[in-house]
Amino acid sequence: MSTDSRTTNAQLFERAQRSIPGGVNSPVRAFRAVGGTPRFIARAEGAYMWDAEGTRYIDYIGSWGPMILGHGHPAVLDAVLSAAREGFSFGAPTEREVELAEAIIALVPSIEQVRLVSSGTEAGMSAIRLARGATGRSKIIKFEGCYHGHADALLVKAGSGLATFGHPTSAGVPPEVVQHTLVLEYNNIAQIEAAFAAHGAEIACVMIEPIAGNMNFVRAAVPFVKRIRELCDQHGALFIFDEVMTGFRVALGSAQSLYAQAIPGFTPDISVFGKVIGGGMPLAAFGTTRRIMEKLAPLGPVYQAGTLSGNPVATACGLATLKEIAKPGFYEALAVKTKALVAGFQAAADANGIPFCTDSQGGMFGFFFASELPQNYPQVMASHQQRFNRFFHGLLDRGVYLAPALYEAGFVSAAHTEADIAATVSAAHEVMAAEA
Ligand code: PLP
Repeated sequence: MSTDSRTTNAQLFERAQRSIPGGVNSPVRAFRAVGGTPRFIARAEGAYMWDAEGTRYIDYIGSWGPMILGHGHPAVLDAVLSAAREGFSFGAPTEREVELAEAIIALVPSIEQVRLVSSGTEAGMSAIRLARGATGRSKIIKFEGCYHGHADALLVKAGSGLATFGHPTSAGVPPEVVQHTLVLEYNNIAQIEAAFAAHGAEIACVMIEPIAGNMNFVRAAVPFVKRIRELCDQHGALFIFDEVMTGFRVALGSAQSLYAQAIPGFTPDISVFGKVIGGGMPLAAFGTTRRIMEKLAPLGPVYQAGTLSGNPVATACGLATLKEIAKPGFYEALAVKTKALVAGFQAAADANGIPFCTDSQGGMFGFFFASELPQNYPQVMASHQQRFNRFFHGLLDRGVYLAPALYEAGFVSAAHTEADIAATVSAAHEVMAAEA
């Protein structure tokens, strides 16, 4: 079909910018980091998305993580359509939300109860409130480069020294609101030891992305996680695993199951989920022990609520998704494809003498134009930005859609075929050859 009669991405972007700030409803979609025109997506199916001009892309963003089964998986689609016919939202409890809570609890041994919410931001913000309410303390620790949503207290960058608390990273966040947030370097054991030595009795919680997908892909080293666990236990602070991205994406038991293999008996205190548990619908959750969860209203003094929380259509989508991913062999097959993709990228870079490195776990991957895998945010940002941008655009021009920023992870779904991976790798060879 000719594209002549279609509205172009550029036309849509120009129109969007008149009615929506920056033309987008979430900043990274605007392609600011890589330049160029965002693609306006018209529809998606399986591993593919088509833009307004009719161009097809192999999709490695998967809506930034949720689409682990690919787009429009038949069983999920049926569940969503039949739930929608029964009603969009009731503002009253339903059996399906109990089923989803039970399904999450069954897969994540550290959780005895969960509460369902509508976004990762909401879940992270509520987890922090719960940690503060449960401990009666105010201070929180986060790590530079980890993103936990856009709640005020979490939009913070490091202060000038360890003894100082952070500065807001967004206008509109008063300094007083972040005065209790301490921002430390990821994977730096000495810093967190010093922070607990200075403030241990005041720290409510330490929040971490166990595999930081907002730094592309940086793993929290096992000794680092182990030391945080020990420090939290010694000082009575709660350890929060933000698994909004890694949850049910890197393993069926989420990232915490991987750390439990490396650190006997390891569990975080509070877990935060989003993305995959909603299968593409607005749904997220936070959970912990029953003792701590019972601090929440209506039982306890920590207030938390939501008009659309546990939405019946979203819970149907999440439940149908969890049912598929719990099938035997699901993560093994996903990991094989993901590994083949990053190995193909690596081979393309090596063949052209370009410094490059990759990592992956389950259906999540990262790559850097650098000779060694970064361990923290400054090292991520020191990787070659221009090379990343050219690689991104080279692949986009060849029908491959990667995340449009070097600090974002990529995602492979069950719908990607070996042929999709091979086509992507062959495109990568062309782009890397042009870069050499
Ligand atoms: N936590 C992590 C680790 C995330 O990656 C994100 C979003 O990408 C969030 C929290 C916030 O989730 P949401 O965008 O659903 O508010």
